[in-house]
Amino acid sequence: MGNFFGNLSYKFQHFMTGRYGYDAFSKFLLIVALIGFGLSMFTGMKLFYTIAVVAIFYSYFRLFSKNIYARQAELRKYFSVKGKVVQKFSLRKKMWAERKAYKYFKCPKCKSVWRYPKGIGKIEITCKNCKNKMIKRT
Ligand SMILES: [Zn+2]
Repeated sequence: MGNFFGNLSYKFQHFMTGRYGYDAFSKFLLIVALIGFGLSMFTGMKLFYTIAVVAIFYSYFRLFSKNIYARQAELRKYFSVKGKVVQKFSLRKKMWAERKAYKYFKCPKCKSVWRYPKGIGKIEITCKNCKNKMIKRT
């Protein structure tokens, strides 16, 4: 019996050779699937169930995929999107925490964000990134 399981694990290792396996994006997909199943149970909406099933299939597809290069590209994309989302949320949090002392302005040209102390009045702001000028009231 021990031999049987030994063979099985050997076979599995052999099967997984050259395949992509598990990464952070697959983990994210499984979390999406769990949330999707939970939401579909609570709301009875088929859409969440469909999303969950698709997420599971996709994570398995990635696990056994032999196109390692494409999967690595997906992982990089996932990290870059995740980084942007995290950055956006931390900026919102900061803006909310400093809402009484500072006003934030977004440069319409390059989308970078600058903050100025409140209560100065009308000022000309020069974007430190692209040198675009804007007149704002703080
Ligand atoms: Zn700018």
